[in-house]
Amino acid sequence: MASEQHRHHPEGGHERGHSGRGGHGGHDRRHGRPGAAGRAGPGAERDLELNPLFSREPVTVPRYALPDGEMAPEVAYQLVHDELMLDGNARLNLATFVTTWADPYARRLMAECAEKNMIDKDEYPQTAELETRCVHMLARLWNAEDPRHATGCSTTGSSEAAMLGGLALKRRWQRRRRAAGLPADRPNLVMGVNVQICWEKFADYFEVEPRYVPMAGDRYHLTPETAVALCDENTIGVVAVLGSTFDGSYEPVAEIAAALDGLQERTGTDVPIHVDGASGAMIAPFLDPELRWDFRVPRVASINTSGHKYGLVMPGVGWALWRDADALPEDLVFHVNYLGGDMPTFALNFSRPGAQVVAQYYHFLRLGFDGYRRVQRTCREVATRLSARIAELGPFDLVTDGSEAPVFAFRLRDGVDHYSVYDVSAALRERGWLVPAYTFPADRTDLAALRVVVRNGFGHDLADLLLADLRRAVERLDRGSAPQRTAEDAGGFAHGAETKNPRRPGRH
Ligand SMILES: *Cc1c(COP(=O)(O)O)cnc(C)c1O
Repeated sequence: MASEQHRHHPEGGHERGHSGRGGHGGHDRRHGRPGAAGRAGPGAERDLELNPLFSREPVTVPRYALPDGEMAPEVAYQLVHDELMLDGNARLNLATFVTTWADPYARRLMAECAEKNMIDKDEYPQTAELETRCVHMLARLWNAEDPRHATGCSTTGSSEAAMLGGLALKRRWQRRRRAAGLPADRPNLVMGVNVQICWEKFADYFEVEPRYVPMAGDRYHLTPETAVALCDENTIGVVAVLGSTFDGSYEPVAEIAAALDGLQERTGTDVPIHVDGASGAMIAPFLDPELRWDFRVPRVASINTSGHKYGLVMPGVGWALWRDADALPEDLVFHVNYLGGDMPTFALNFSRPGAQVVAQYYHFLRLGFDGYRRVQRTCREVATRLSARIAELGPFDLVTDGSEAPVFAFRLRDGVDHYSVYDVSAALRERGWLVPAYTFPADRTDLAALRVVVRNGFGHDLADLLLADLRRAVERLDRGSAPQRTAEDAGGFAHGAETKNPRRPGRH
């Protein structure tokens, strides 16, 4: 649980009496106080006040305790609705990779399926069937040798898919080691320090030593030589990322595989690759068909993607696929009842919404290959054009330009030291744009950058508006003499890019 320190409101401690009227009985209400898992915002010490809103009788309800009584649904709705007005505008959120726009038919199907539980294969056999069709479509899209034998499942997102991919690697390695009479108690996983936080979690939760290749100079992700250098007989796999969280770049999967082929020739050590294609696995098939990163590379054992990123579904759905049954040890697979038969499942959750899987199938059907290519191409065009314009503004250098995943990072030019990237991020936030600023991990913690994620729904018009606001912000900041904000002031909205720096409270 994310547990933050209680922030004390200036009015803290000022307790208010309760009217206790309005259908809530005549006795005092309990005061709810945020517990360890709660997040206490300003005003946290006070109960929720409903009056004189909605022209109802004055009433207060506890903020952090379950109210004793009931309230009218329209009042409860309005209370929740109003509170959420303070959330950021999702369409102006350029920090997230996750879908923030869907057409009305996708939304309608999701509403129609809101009550369906993905695990109830027997009760909702057609939802299960749509999941199977999606797995087969992805197996073909990712060039599985024999798509009918590729195996896979939906998940809540790439994080769960990464746990499953990592577990399969670990179990295969353990089995191989035990069969050879060798110790199997010190597994390690090799990856770039740029991996998303889910891989740090996998290593932590499932007790695998993470071996991170640091960044160096202008190298912001994993390379063949640096990956192989960290591998040994205890390496369960190498994670290669297609669409790095920090800068959108693709890691060179085929070249990493070739280097691991060399390692096997030299030492006999056979290290499989898992591709984290959270964003890139739904971009490269459409825009970079010649790029070999998928099951065409024999060493790629498994691939994950986020259906809710460039798969275009609202959160949360992800996908994990294995090249064949050998890549997914049978002893990890559980079986549920399915139309009197048996359905293998591999998942951390039991219950999980079915609506997202249905929406994924809808998008596949609605857009087809050409539609996805059009959507992703537009994202890439918007990203590369916007990054080029930002480079022309003067104070910025591009780290990447959005020509791989439509995601780019940019930094302040050397010599621009009278304001910081955190000042730029804050200035944009004044206009509603959420553009995160963060420092890169080891060994480039000196590099602070801003990042823009271009998604379906962020077109050239919005990009021009962002550019105009950025230009104005820079002109104003240029008149200052010293940075106002540092990394300490940055919000935590870099979406997994803010990892592997020393752990901060609330981030473990
Ligand atoms: C977003 C992301 C993840 C985590 O995916 P979720 O679907 O948010 O769980 C993992 N890896 C990469 C590269 C990502 O971009």
